[in-house]
Amino acid sequence: MQSRNDNATSETVVLSTDAAGLASAAEVLRAGGLIAFPTETVYGLGADARQSDAVAGIFAAKGRPSFNPLIVHVADLAAAEALVTFTPQAYRLAQAFWPGALTLVLPLRAGSGVSSLVTAGLATLAVRVPDHPVAQGLLRAFGGPVAAPSANPSGRISPTTPAHVLTGLNGRIAGIVDGGACGVGVESTIVDVTGDPVLLRAGGIPAEVLAEALGAPLAHPSAEGTIAAPGMMASHYAPQGAVRLNATAALPGEVLLGFGAVAGDLTLSRSGDLREAAANLFDCLHRLDAMAATAIAVAPVPNHGLGAAINDRLRRAAAPRD
Ligand code: AMP
Ligand code: MG
Repeated sequence: MQSRNDNATSETVVLSTDAAGLASAAEVLRAGGLIAFPTETVYGLGADARQSDAVAGIFAAKGRPSFNPLIVHVADLAAAEALVTFTPQAYRLAQAFWPGALTLVLPLRAGSGVSSLVTAGLATLAVRVPDHPVAQGLLRAFGGPVAAPSANPSGRISPTTPAHVLTGLNGRIAGIVDGGACGVGVESTIVDVTGDPVLLRAGGIPAEVLAEALGAPLAHPSAEGTIAAPGMMASHYAPQGAVRLNATAALPGEVLLGFGAVAGDLTLSRSGDLREAAANLFDCLHRLDAMAATAIAVAPVPNHGLGAAINDRLRRAAAPRD
């Protein structure tokens, strides 16, 4: 299929975050084009969630398998309610954490208008209200649901700066809104709230914090649960070099990514701060690519709070590749 989105030779326009820039970005989305934009987690690659051609463009630009569903971004709870049916626990989480780094999977409403490419044909939809002034400004200027996975080639490192986005997608997308670096640095936490809450992906809001708001721990997906996380590829977020985890020193030829007391050649956080480490994670992996590191050793990172999301991404970065 030929559309403006899979024309790999067109120029990617860099747009400002002022009203004129956001109006231009919204216009591109209306015309079925692709716009990368900042959120508090990572840069998203947005398309009008109601236009199948536009959504197909996301899969084409990223080289993403079409069975991997997308998260839809909306400006507020009311806009989310137009797309999905809320459960009591979903309301509780939305009220506590939206806008924010939390994605809720809920039953898709009949007549939502969302393209079935977004859900990969599932009866559920993943929705999020981002907490970033530029994302909010774009969603309001556009006035509709925006399907947006991370703005990187499928399986590669997520982008937390405009430069990261352009490294992977320059010439493959219509434009990018330049809002500087993302604050949280890891993707949203995904919770399936169609029934008892199930943690599908660790992310920017720690599971412990969600459990506290719910008054009960989150369940984890069952091993045989195929509905749980259709797109959770073992290998993902991968830098060019091979990755070895839980290293306290570099072996010959390795570049060491440090944390806390393990100093490293570069560090996620010298002081051992998990928030700082999350914000630095993907930039460090991009820098290792820029250094052409062929072997990467990574210091241990504690597994509580944001450490769960960091370790999830590191495990996928270290997983065997196809
Ligand atoms: P990404 O857009 O790359 O941050 O990934 C979004 C992830 O959300 C996918 O890989 C899926 O695992 C998950 N997801 C999206 N929609 C659904 C859904 N309807 N049900 C379960 N998981 C979903
Ligand atoms: Mg992604």
